[in-house]
Amino acid sequence: MKRKRSSDDLLPETHEKALRQYPPECSLTRIIRQYGLLETLVSNLCSDDLLALLLSSKSIYQAIAPRPGSLENLLGRLRCSGKGIRIRQKHHKNSIYFFMYGHTEYIQCGATTKGSRIESRPCINCKVNTCDECRIHCVYQSNFEKPCEEDELPNFSGFVLLSPHETPILSPHHLAMDHAGPRWQDPSNGQAGPYHDQGFIDVPFDDDTFGPPENVKGILNLNLGRHTLADSTSSSIPDPSPVLKAIHRTTEQRKRKFCDSCLPPQLSQHGKGIRATLCQCTLKNRFLDRWMCLRCYEAEELVLSKVYPNHLEQCGCERQLDRELCLWCWGLVALPMIEPSTQPGLGSEPSNVEGSP
Ligand SMILES: [Zn+2]
Ligand SMILES: [Zn+2]
Ligand SMILES: [Zn+2]
Ligand SMILES: [Zn+2]
Ligand SMILES: [Zn+2]
Repeated sequence: MKRKRSSDDLLPETHEKALRQYPPECSLTRIIRQYGLLETLVSNLCSDDLLALLLSSKSIYQAIAPRPGSLENLLGRLRCSGKGIRIRQKHHKNSIYFFMYGHTEYIQCGATTKGSRIESRPCINCKVNTCDECRIHCVYQSNFEKPCEEDELPNFSGFVLLSPHETPILSPHHLAMDHAGPRWQDPSNGQAGPYHDQGFIDVPFDDDTFGPPENVKGILNLNLGRHTLADSTSSSIPDPSPVLKAIHRTTEQRKRKFCDSCLPPQLSQHGKGIRATLCQCTLKNRFLDRWMCLRCYEAEELVLSKVYPNHLEQCGCERQLDRELCLWCWGLVALPMIEPSTQPGLGSEPSNVEGSP
């Protein structure tokens, strides 16, 4: 039931109306309207703080993001949130050797490291500023072990992608003592390192099979459209080698099989076969050249794992004549024993240099 208005109510109502027309600007909104000040303010906030600020009032929201594009610019200026570090710590499990030999862990977000040399860039997907430690790497060098003797080299270890198995990492000097260039040092000294995506990876500590150390640079540059990581020539080494298991899982998860009739619409030429180029993906151009925060990496991996789930072993229609496509680029993956250059209409042969371990 409506309350009958008395004349006393009129005054507050007029006041309210006036407020709605001319809302008093709070001092925060005034600061935010000066874009230079806003940028300084934002560089001290992480993404959660900015979200809280955006949601605090409509006038603040409008002051922060007056135009499309202004928000994206600000996201790229935020302080790294350190969420990537927490994701790494959640997935990476230090082995018993870590505790037995007194390894030290050096994992630090660029935003919380004093006088940090750690680079930050906006994530390619969510646009939020992300430090190099909080983004995806193929090999994270996180652990260090002091040498027992003066003339010995320190030991390094870390993790492949978000795989849980602690993996030894050999520096160039571990393989050749006379290697030119500076020796790897303890990253916590703040002089050099951590040495992500470098050196040679070895068999994970918790794996008791054998495989030779693999050159990380070679793995990163391998043309995945033409090669798989499971083509060990030696019968004494399991396929894939225990050293490459985690990376191999990632590169295989991007492949799906299709026959001509079941091609995804963007690749089908209406009964005239496939319109696709050869996959030329490498781990380097997928994971290192795209600066991606670990939250987006996890989300992307999850989405990819659910794409065309019935095309893993063979085409979903169970026809045998199928081809393999790369979900990263929708290019064709060369099947073993088929020389891609002899297939008609597949695009030109890549001329880039392939690394080999
Ligand atoms: Zn996770
Ligand atoms: Zn960070
Ligand atoms: Zn992101
Ligand atoms: Zn099919
Ligand atoms: Zn590809």
